[in-house]
Amino acid sequence: MSKSNVVLTIPKPGSFELVERPYPVINAGYAIIKTEIAPICLEGTRIWAEHDFEFHDDPNHLGHEGVGTVAEVLPGSNFKVGDRVIVFQGDYCGQCHSCRNGLSPTYCQSNNPDIRGVERAAMKGIEFRNESESGGFAMAHYRIAPEANMYRLPEAVDFRYGAACNCSYGVGFSNQELMNVKAGDTVLVGGVGFIAMGHIISALYRNATVIGLMRNKYREDLLRKMGVEHFVNPEDEDWLEQVRALTYEGQGVDHAVDGSGVTYYQDKLMQATRLYGTVNFSGHTPGSKVDLSPLHDVIDPAHTLLGQHDVRIRDREGLVRSLFDKEVQRMIDVMVTHEFPMSRAGEAFDIQVGKQCGKIYLYTQQ
Ligand SMILES: [Zn+2]
Ligand SMILES: [Zn+2]
Repeated sequence: MSKSNVVLTIPKPGSFELVERPYPVINAGYAIIKTEIAPICLEGTRIWAEHDFEFHDDPNHLGHEGVGTVAEVLPGSNFKVGDRVIVFQGDYCGQCHSCRNGLSPTYCQSNNPDIRGVERAAMKGIEFRNESESGGFAMAHYRIAPEANMYRLPEAVDFRYGAACNCSYGVGFSNQELMNVKAGDTVLVGGVGFIAMGHIISALYRNATVIGLMRNKYREDLLRKMGVEHFVNPEDEDWLEQVRALTYEGQGVDHAVDGSGVTYYQDKLMQATRLYGTVNFSGHTPGSKVDLSPLHDVIDPAHTLLGQHDVRIRDREGLVRSLFDKEVQRMIDVMVTHEFPMSRAGEAFDIQVGKQCGKIYLYTQQ
């Protein structure tokens, strides 16, 4: 019996189909992964609800986050069949600034549609380079991954913790390496979705104090379970005084993290950050722009504004080491509020649209 692949498609908003496709084929440098968990990124809110696509996905090509088991390698591979791995998203060229410096694969030239062209960049590029009719994407039984973006998961670490190493805890952790969040710091987080929850797990792991600037009571309850003790409602007239009162000498927070992508939170987060503090942008909303005065918003407060997609290659080991921490595991358990077999993906997407959730996992083999 010849093997085949099964991939998830969203042909129109609010409806999905599991479609049979040819089993993937690979060239040197790549492996075939039997995906176990494909966490949902914005496939619910962006694609299921609005059929809004980015350059790297379309109705038949979905999912970039995932963990699984190596199903096939070519001779000379550094992996073997049966290895459990985290797949970090996208392709790898090994010879661009990002690859050479251990930065996030998102910035690798092979994932840049302006350089490679939309059909030959990122996950579509993985199918193109392997001359494969399926396998570039995570929401499928099998996917192709560049070996350079595979990380062997330690035996003692469960798949469901490894699956948090992409667009939730992984993104928060890597951004906080960039921000240098450390013990004793105070981190203000505004607009809390699953990326911001990843930041919060990372900040608590680093023994920082977290303040949630938020209105969603369901998610506030999740944060309390993680161990966050301080919450401020951004609608309160004295929200800024409340935040400052929670910081050393009322200086303001050392770091602010925006998970919303909208100015409502971004303006407040910048206001609440102390002199020489960092302001991290980890959320984006189409069409939203922040109004910035270089003098008043950057030079006067001496703020560092920063942000990045994805997980830097150089942060992967520290990230996976942290998965042994029992508190990190417990917090990931809180963050992952829903788990569905891929055969019931519609229910999972509906829940994400309703925002009464943390991170949602799809079990692709079920
Ligand atoms: Zn993602
Ligand atoms: Zn590269």
